[in-house]
Amino acid sequence: MRIIENRIQNSPNSSCFDGTVSWNPVKSLWWTSMTLTWVIVGYLYFSWSAVLAFLIVTATTIIGGHSLGMHRKLIHDSFDCPKWLERLGTWLGTLVGLGGPFTMIYTHDLRDWAQRQEKCHAYLRHGSPILKDFWWQIHGQLKLESPPDYQFPDKLTKDPFMRVIQSTAFVQQIPLALILFYIGGLGFVAWAICGRVSLSIFGHWLVGWFAHNTGHQEWVVDGAAVQGHNIRFCGIITAGECWHNNHHAFPESAKIGLHSDQADPGWWVLTAFEKLGLVSNLVLPNDLPIRNKLRHIP
Ligand SMILES: [Zn+2]
Ligand SMILES: [Zn+2]
Repeated sequence: MRIIENRIQNSPNSSCFDGTVSWNPVKSLWWTSMTLTWVIVGYLYFSWSAVLAFLIVTATTIIGGHSLGMHRKLIHDSFDCPKWLERLGTWLGTLVGLGGPFTMIYTHDLRDWAQRQEKCHAYLRHGSPILKDFWWQIHGQLKLESPPDYQFPDKLTKDPFMRVIQSTAFVQQIPLALILFYIGGLGFVAWAICGRVSLSIFGHWLVGWFAHNTGHQEWVVDGAAVQGHNIRFCGIITAGECWHNNHHAFPESAKIGLHSDQADPGWWVLTAFEKLGLVSNLVLPNDLPIRNKLRHIP
């Protein structure tokens, strides 16, 4: 059985409800500039080989980075692997363009914590109509009046590699961009850097909105401000992350697509890595403590 460290300290004064959303210029200009560069330069220098480069780098960063490195390993510690592989996964996850490891773990933990309370701010549960939520999540930030205390894990604070990746998260695109430019010129950079970052950020938000608003439910977490939903037909393009109802029910499970019709490429890669001896101790729902508030819907 796995003991999950409690990084968020819920004090009586902290509130996940009171707060204001404001424009975040860095986030907003980052996504907008990536999108515009992709549309303009990607059109002028279009080639099918640039699209292929986009598909290869996107699949690698979303599956190996965002889903496995950041989400299932760094955040939920749902399997064991060598330090170098965790670092590689975290670096690939940073290339997705949503932020470095400190940003990702904090953003994720704050949402998880807020969504399990009886009520939380609409920003933290994707509770607004889709256009407003798009503006909030892609261009804005929530400032809570009384945020909870937060303790970053030692594996981040005591690892110089992780601290460097965090402080240079945006410029981590540059070495990859230079390699892509060398191979395929501006078209490769426009598609496999700008287009990929733009679509990854947009897709992450879009799947997040649907996964908290509509879709199939098999489990309910009683008393939670919002439930997760499973989004059908998105397993492949989300690396298995779209089975979000399962994830709300069993957050520390390394397997997110729990049924045979729930495609989970992240899990396929993990099981292949397990056969190669690269990962071990893959956590499954049965390995987790029973949650009293978790209810199966027949
Ligand atoms: Zn959620
Ligand atoms: Zn999670």
